[in-house]
Amino acid sequence: MSKVISTEMERLLATGSTLRAMFEEGKKMRREFGDENVYDFSLGNPSVPAPAELNAAMKEVIDTTDSMMLHGYMSNAGYDISREAIAKDLNERFGTSFRMENVTMTVGAANALVIAMKILINPGDEVVVFAPFFLEYRNYISNFGGVTKVVPPNPPTFMPDMKAFADVITEKTRAVIIDNPNNPSGVVYDEETIKAMAKVMEEAEEKYGHPIFLLSDEPYREIVYDGTTVPFLTKYYRNTLICYSYSKSMSIPGERIGYLLIPDEADESRRIMDASSIGIRVLGCVNAPSLQQLAIVRVLDKRTDVSVYDKNRRALMQAMDEAGLEYADPKGTFYMFVKTPFEDDTEFVKRAKEKYHVLCSSGAAFDCQGYVRFAYCVDYDMIVRATPHIKALGASYGLSPRTK
Ligand code: PLP
Repeated sequence: MSKVISTEMERLLATGSTLRAMFEEGKKMRREFGDENVYDFSLGNPSVPAPAELNAAMKEVIDTTDSMMLHGYMSNAGYDISREAIAKDLNERFGTSFRMENVTMTVGAANALVIAMKILINPGDEVVVFAPFFLEYRNYISNFGGVTKVVPPNPPTFMPDMKAFADVITEKTRAVIIDNPNNPSGVVYDEETIKAMAKVMEEAEEKYGHPIFLLSDEPYREIVYDGTTVPFLTKYYRNTLICYSYSKSMSIPGERIGYLLIPDEADESRRIMDASSIGIRVLGCVNAPSLQQLAIVRVLDKRTDVSVYDKNRRALMQAMDEAGLEYADPKGTFYMFVKTPFEDDTEFVKRAKEKYHVLCSSGAAFDCQGYVRFAYCVDYDMIVRATPHIKALGASYGLSPRTK
């Protein structure tokens, strides 16, 4: 037992990040076999440049903003002009009526999530997640002594099963996290699903006599295909908090900018708003990055070029079809969730890597065995080069091409 490291950090050190480990492995393999001969689908780092208008806006902000303002402290919730512009943008897009007070600027969606948990969770409270899920959720929840309760995966659609959902909710449930479009499955929960989830939660609130908050983690909201629409959750469930990020929609994950949206109709909304300012401060961020707050609101109508991901998605779907591999309906994000020919997905990941130099992430890393995640935020040419190897991988399991 270390005399230095806390028990919780000891646990984190021991488990590490399997996704990061695969990325490091990819780097090593590229050195050994050459860039052209390694097909790395392991990491969800945007591969499309940020909109040129955003870079121009950052320069303009630097050139035209008073230095003391640009580089100084501000209200913990962020600049009024940024919060106001975001509220207005949401109102125009979703027919809502948010005001600046409903928006707290955050250091990405991750920060919005931990602020929300800091506000809501007492030690021992339970937070429900749906497998497969973004594994950091467990760490965020345990930061506050919360307990993660997992709704089992529901393949092949991965739409949450309402009976299984209702079964995991208990008297201790304080919050439910959904991530729509979903990392890692790539599926998008449709309106029917959202309505059914809201009903389950309303019934549970009634049964247990306390609010249960829906934390909507939305870094991929705009990364959707085939005309898919993503329901805007505050319209369906009163106690919703939205954790939004520009990391993926603007391809700026390193810039760390997003917001927490607190609707007026949520229980004790005023106090949650006040608490969010304290939350960002006491979690050590103080406020969201100043330059990004001022730049992003000048280009709220701009997005990263999603057609690039769509082209990749289609090429990867074709590769999987030709390999005889099945996958969840990839309607959003830049991930494809591929079914492994048998339950042991770690064997698949190992074989793909060692024999075919194809790197993907084990479904077990997302609490869902029997699947693997391919991140297709990569160069299109790499997908083309990978295709014969993915086909050979499928053939090595005796699979034959699928026709759709
Ligand atoms: N939630 C999900 C589902 C993610 O995939 C990620 C990042 O990959 C995050 C949250 C964190 O996003 P941000 O960069 O906005 O903190």
